[in-house]
Amino acid sequence: MEENMNRELLDFIAASPTAWHAVENLARRLREAGCRELYEEKNWELRPGERCFVRRNGSSLIAFRVPTGCPAGFMLMAAHADSPSFRLKELETLGVAGLYAQLNVERYGGMLMASWLDRPLSVAGRVVVRDGESLVTRLVNLERDLALIPNLAIHMDRSQNEGKNYDPKTDLLPLIGSEASAESFRRLVAESAGVPEGDVVSAELQLYPRTPGTVWGVESEYISAPRLDDLQCVFGCAEGFLRAGESGSIPVLTVFDNEEVGSATRQGAGSGFLADTLERVAESLGLEGERYRRLLAQSFLISADNAHAVHPNHPEYADRVDRPQLNGGVVIKANANQRYTTDAVSAAVFAEICRRAGVPTQRYTNRADLPGGSTLGCISLGQVAVRSVDIGLAQLAMHSCYETAGARDTAYLVCAAQRFFGSSLLVEDERFRILDGKGERA
Ligand code: ZN
Repeated sequence: MEENMNRELLDFIAASPTAWHAVENLARRLREAGCRELYEEKNWELRPGERCFVRRNGSSLIAFRVPTGCPAGFMLMAAHADSPSFRLKELETLGVAGLYAQLNVERYGGMLMASWLDRPLSVAGRVVVRDGESLVTRLVNLERDLALIPNLAIHMDRSQNEGKNYDPKTDLLPLIGSEASAESFRRLVAESAGVPEGDVVSAELQLYPRTPGTVWGVESEYISAPRLDDLQCVFGCAEGFLRAGESGSIPVLTVFDNEEVGSATRQGAGSGFLADTLERVAESLGLEGERYRRLLAQSFLISADNAHAVHPNHPEYADRVDRPQLNGGVVIKANANQRYTTDAVSAAVFAEICRRAGVPTQRYTNRADLPGGSTLGCISLGQVAVRSVDIGLAQLAMHSCYETAGARDTAYLVCAAQRFFGSSLLVEDERFRILDGKGERA
């Protein structure tokens, strides 16, 4: 099962160089499983028992199952589809010394810059094209070794191994060909969109590494690929959603764009996308006003975003006790300053679900002098305040363009997600009961 799952995960990652592609692939997977697509601009008529999904901006997606009876609450999992990368500023190229054509790029998110050098790169994203009187978005993926950011030779700058300060406006511009190819880039993009060059009106394109994902190690215990943060969690949550049986709650799978740049976009976790969707679902079930508030009071959010494993060369960066290992199971993340949403109740609820699913859990906290990262959990709670836990899978080299995780952990997340989506949480006077399957009703 593990082997197949890792193959499927690597295929999903390879086909998803951008958040738009990840959401497109997820939408296809959901449709194949019988889910119906809804549109924000249209009327929703929900049928009991069916599974539906809605997209915003083509780069965020929410899927849910319509309950057959009166639901206890929403059982939510959220992960993010975007990853740090370089965005193209425009389709025009830069010329250098009459010799080269380069792409003009800027950073999207906080990447480990060195990882992007000296490896084949390509370009993908979306373009807006003219179609008669309309403007239409199209996904593009140039899908070939097209660009590379070359290092400077050690002979030209001996200081490079002593801690390099990368200047993004000079050190990180990708080369795409000789100056003679300067005019060709726009044509390649138009070809990928299937339109004449003149019909491309605007574009949002980014670089992605072409290095394929792999399972490796003496016992094939590791998996490495681009964008494991957070497509590994997107994949795990989505598989769990699709495998889960009916419960007494409303399972909701949420995939957000723009986590890496603060989530404050129309489709990010800071937007009303989730709140709007939950309200519309509740309204169409006749659960408005106070009844909607009661649903939220019995709801639970799992914010799933990868966590730092103990580093083999630098174990000193990990906490002395909370030391996540690759293949050690799902990581529960906690932080005193609430950069993670986990509290004693949510940690206990999640750990209990994992225990019932036979999934090991481990803990992550930052070393006490390090601020650490944050996740979309806290931001999402600003829109929909429900009980919430931050979790993830242990990985190395987070925000490198080629990351490493445990080959057994994806299956653990799928099992935990399946169990969670098939459960309900009943809350009464600070007493918490987790019911499996359709369960009894309070
Ligand atoms: Zn992440």
